[in-house]
Amino acid sequence: MPHSAVIGLGSNLGNRQFYLQMANCLIGWEVGAIVRRSTVIETPAWGFESDPFLNQVIVVETELSPMELLDTLQSIERRLGRTQKSTVVDGKPVYHARTIDLDILDYDRMKLQNDRLTLPHPHIAEREFVMVPLRELGIDIGY
Ligand code: ADP
Ligand code: MG
Repeated sequence: MPHSAVIGLGSNLGNRQFYLQMANCLIGWEVGAIVRRSTVIETPAWGFESDPFLNQVIVVETELSPMELLDTLQSIERRLGRTQKSTVVDGKPVYHARTIDLDILDYDRMKLQNDRLTLPHPHIAEREFVMVPLRELGIDIGY
């Protein structure tokens, strides 16, 4: 049985529409079938001063485990030119403009926490740029 993963996509650097399309393509190829896609919305940068984002949420059926999914999404981020990771300075997150950000919002409603992955994604409820597409798709991750 394939697993169901909800993935949040964001881009605020360069040709944003192109990066979203390339990410959709590579995810469909390397992660699994994309069974739902939200509308692409434009939102202001959240948590830092930067150019506005294009955001989208997709649902993918995958045979990958959560850690394999994270590895694959991070590999796609690197290939699409993402250079800087978010870091924490003085206890506060520091974000950077990015060609593509791929976050696992949910994986089979699993709860998981290790040094690389927290499921479900911890900041869903406070981020309108994921809540709006999730509502459009009628997905309630349980917050
Ligand atoms: P952000 O998405 O908050 O801007 P990054 O994309 O730079 O930050 O990711 C920072 C780290 O978050 C990654 O190295 C990854 O290991 C970790 N992480 C924890 N939980 C998740 C998740 N559910 N989805 C994606 N990354 C996650
Ligand atoms: Mg991320």
